Amino acid sequence: MDKLPAATTDQSASGLRIGLFGGTFDPPHVGHLVTAVNVMHALGLDQVILMVANVPWQKEGSRIITPAQDRLAMVEAAVAAVPGLVAGDTEIRMGGPSYTVDTLQVLRHEVSEYDNATFFTIVGDDAAAGVPTWERFKELTELTELVVVDRPGAPVALSDDIKWIRVEVPHLDVSSTDLRSRFTDGRPLDYLITQPVLDVIRDRALYSTPIGAPA
Ligand code: ATP
Ligand code: MG
Repeated sequence: MDKLPAATTDQSASGLRIGLFGGTFDPPHVGHLVTAVNVMHALGLDQVILMVANVPWQKEGSRIITPAQDRLAMVEAAVAAVPGLVAGDTEIRMGGPSYTVDTLQVLRHEVSEYDNATFFTIVGDDAAAGVPTWERFKELTELTELVVVDRPGAPVALSDDIKWIRVEVPHLDVSSTDLRSRFTDGRPLDYLITQPVLDVIRDRALYSTPIGAPA
């Protein structure tokens, strides 16, 4: 993972506010980026880490998942020009299934700037509904604030037992699932995936159909 941006390293090491936005990012799209920058702004975060899941246990077995290193390369490309956003490879380096509770522990111990940081784990409401089932949920709530953003679609009922921080972000009806089917059936990807990510997809020949190739 990249170092903290220079502007934030001068601040007191105890005060950092770090967003943790986990996902499969298969592929990363504008819905992810718009969410990350708006939560960063709304909550005054120093940094948001787009953490690439190694083995997304919720999705295992349901479809073929693009190799983790390719998903990481796409996320690195997505955040390269965006101040405050960084790509996280902690879960890939840890190996095995990705549990946020473990990721938070490792980040705090591995990155000295994070020693006394406050973590904000960011989820869309579809993912938020499942948060109480996440591994070692009680321990998780002691390590992080929980932030939820709405996604287009039916509103999701969330447990009142959890102290959610709700952040309003522009509602973009974009999903990686829809984007993967766009690759298959040739519908346009323009403006839904940023150009640096499209370049990685083309260079690595991901999602089988080369971009720009005749249908
Ligand atoms: P898939 O369709 O493969 O599940 P996805 O678009 O939901 O992909 P994920 O990698 O599963 O993307 O999502 C990572 C996180 O980003 C989740 O918390 C999810 O709720 C959130 N998210 C994804 N798309 C959006 C969006 N358009 N607006 C807000 N949050 C989103
Ligand atoms: Mg999803």
